[in-house]
Formats: sequence, structure tokens, C-alpha cells
Amino acid sequence: MNSHRNIAIVGSGFIGLAHALMAREAGYSVTVFERHGRPLGASIRNFGTIWPVGCVPGPEREQALFGARYWRELAAKTGIWHDPRGSLGVAHRDSAWQVLQEAAANGAGEGYALLGREEILREFPAVNPDGLRGGLRGTPELVLHTPTAIPALIDHLRALGVVFHFGTPVVRVLDENALETSLGERHAFDHLLIAAGEEMRLLFPRELAAAEIVPCRLQMMRSVPQPAGFDLGAVLVGDLTLGHYPAFRDCPSLPALQAEIRAEFHDETRWGIHVIAAQHHDRSITIGDSHEYGDDLDPGSYTAVDERILAALARFAKLADPRIATRWQGTYLKSTRGITQVVLHPRDNVTMVTAMGGLGMTLGWGLAKRTVDHWKTLDT
Ligand SMILES: Cc1cc2nc3c(=O)[nH]c(=O)nc-3n(C[C@H](O)[C@H](O)[C@H](O)COP(=O)(O)OP(=O)(O)OC[C@H]3O[C@@H](n4cnc5c(N)ncnc54)[C@H](O)[C@@H]3O)c2cc1C
Repeated sequence: MNSHRNIAIVGSGFIGLAHALMAREAGYSVTVFERHGRPLGASIRNFGTIWPVGCVPGPEREQALFGARYWRELAAKTGIWHDPRGSLGVAHRDSAWQVLQEAAANGAGEGYALLGREEILREFPAVNPDGLRGGLRGTPELVLHTPTAIPALIDHLRALGVVFHFGTPVVRVLDENALETSLGERHAFDHLLIAAGEEMRLLFPRELAAAEIVPCRLQMMRSVPQPAGFDLGAVLVGDLTLGHYPAFRDCPSLPALQAEIRAEFHDETRWGIHVIAAQHHDRSITIGDSHEYGDDLDPGSYTAVDERILAALARFAKLADPRIATRWQGTYLKSTRGITQVVLHPRDNVTMVTAMGGLGMTLGWGLAKRTVDHWKTLDT
């Protein structure tokens, strides 16, 4: 149908790949340009959690649920490892428990239910019983292991005929609907999608600056594989997370919870620490994170921050083997205006997707579908 129309994509992170798949399925010819020899950006540095529970109920939650369903179907079709067993947010203080109950009453939606303390301890033995009040169980969430899922998605796209040029930075977009690589090669397109992750200074830097977005760097860790039989049972989060995602912002008790956290946890507040624990197929657990905002940050990774993250984890979950196998940093762009997905059109036929914050893996499929539907409308 659209096979005579060319889509060029800058960036082989998840946002680029999601657009590549949606465009290929719509019949477009698709070529992806990636500056590195393989994707090394946020898409392989994250938790791999697909996280509708973090999205505000309404259109954004629907988009996230679409993303979760799409990942499940794709994983079933391609064999990409995923754990479909959802999420559990646990409350270890009254104000957090109050927020979870309000979220449930405010229409957390289908797939979400409150669990009492005893039920949690029966079903999720890794949860710390000390001070446990209750929790919010979600079934739509899932976990991927993105260092393997993203390459598997690339293999799938190659099999569908998507062409990849790795080690090929795109340095310029020309007026005549063509891009130029660092080797001076030109590639014509009908539509161009730029999903360049944290790169803000190369392609359309003025438009990016005008969009008021800021880099955010996060410290992450992965535990050693846990002993056989140790099973988190779901992605676990605790009290600190409730203030982090927009989903809980309308809960009347949230300000009280945030005030308590600010008063009690200075370093956690300063470093924007909240904690997610997500277990993978090798029984290792990805743990994070902190949030440090700004351009050109010092390269250091802070031991004190990692210690705070691990202490916060221990307040709501106990690992059988707490040793850390690997630590890394990831960066995403975030809107300073509170927009969860920033889409720019610096020129006709050029779409830039940027600043998906900490929900890009969750919202990306829905956004890619929207972009490709728009291209289809233009091309009919
Ligand atoms: C630590 C961390 C944890 C996160 N956890 C989650 C989570 O659990 N759930 C969730 O939904 N989201 C999460 N996110 C957010 C999510 O990972 C991002 O929103 C998403 O991966 C962004 O994808 P992307 O393709 O835009 O960027 P990236 O993955 O960074 O990819 C951009 C690619 O573009 C390439 N590129 C840049 N410039 C050029 C150029 N000029 N020419 C060619 N190639 C270029 C880069 O090399 C890179 O490979 C997390 C992010 C981080 C950093």
C-alpha cells in the first residue's frame, strides 16, 4: 500500500523501533540510522517495566494499556522474554496507604485492586512485613529485560524487511527531504522520524531548546541473580514512588505523604530517589533510581546515592542476596512544563519525538501508532 513511500528513522532506541514496526506493518519502506554500533541509550538502561499504573487515568492510561497489550502480543509472537505478572505498590506508612486507597477509590481502573497486609505477605514473601499497611495490586504491568528485548526487536524488524545502518550518525536534515550522514551520504525520505534520545545539540537544537526540556540522569543497579526459588512475584514499588508518577497527583493525601518524606528523607528528596525493583529471567533484579537534572553533569556516579536507594528498597522488600552485580547511569529528556510526551514538527515531513521521561517504554507504542496513522492520512 505505502511501500513506495520511504520512512527514515534517526535512532534505534525503543521510540525509533516502535515507529519502525508500526510503519512497516502499515506497508512503508523503513530505514533506521543509528550512530552507535548498537543501541546504547535509555532503551537498554531502564527497568524494562511497562507501567500503566504510573499514568493518569484517562487517555494517557489508555495509551499505556495499549502499549502493555502490544508488548505482550509481540513478546508472545517473537519469544521476547517478559514477566506478565503485574505490579505491587506497597505502603509502609499511613499516609502512603491513604494515597493508595484514594487512588483505588478515584478509579484506578480495571486491573487494579487493594490488597491487605496478610494477603500481601502470603502472596509476596519478599515484601518487608515491618510496618506494612497494605498495597495496590496491578495486573496490566509487565517486565522486560531490555538489554536483550531491544536487540530481539531489531531482529524481528530485520526479518520484516526494515533496513538498519549502524555506526551511522545523521548529521543534517536537508531542505529537499533528505538526510545526510557523517560520511556525507544522502538518503531521501517521504517522512522522517527523529528519536535521538538525549542528543539535543545536533538535529534541530533550536526547536528542542524552545520546547523547554532538560536532561535527567538516573543511577541504576542490578543485583546478582537471586537464589533459586526467590521470586518477587511482581514489580515492587514502595512509598517514595507515589510522589514520582503523575497517576497519584490528584489523591488528596499525596501532599501530606510528600511533606512527611521531605521532612524525614533529606537526601532522598535532594536526589529525587524513589525505588522500583524488577526481576528478570536470570533472577537478577534491576533496582533504581535517582534523578539529577541539568546539562553537562559531572560524570561521577555517587556511592551515597546507591546506598540510599538500597536502604529505601530494604524498607519495603528483602532480597535473598543483596549483592550488586552492576551499576550504570541512564539519561532521558524531560519536559519542564510537565508534558509527558513531546512531539515536534520542525519541518513538514519531519517528526521529532523527545522527552518521554520515565515512561517511554510504556507510551511508545501508542505514540508510534498515532504518528503512523497521521502519515497514512497524509499519504492517501
Ligand atoms: C534509567 C532509566 C529508567 C527508565 N525506566 C523506564 C521504565 O521502567 N519504563 C518506561 O516506560 N520507561 C522507562 N524509562 C524511559 C525510557 O527508557 C525512554 O523514554 C525511552 O527508552 C526513550 O527511547 P528513545 O528511543 O527516545 O531514546 P534512546 O533509547 O536513548 O535511543 C536514542 C538513540 O538515538 C541514537 N542517536 C542519537 N542521535 C543520533 C544521530 N544524530 N544519528 C543517529 N543516531 C542517533 C542514539 O545513539 C540512541 O541509540 C527509563 C529511562 C531511564 C534512563
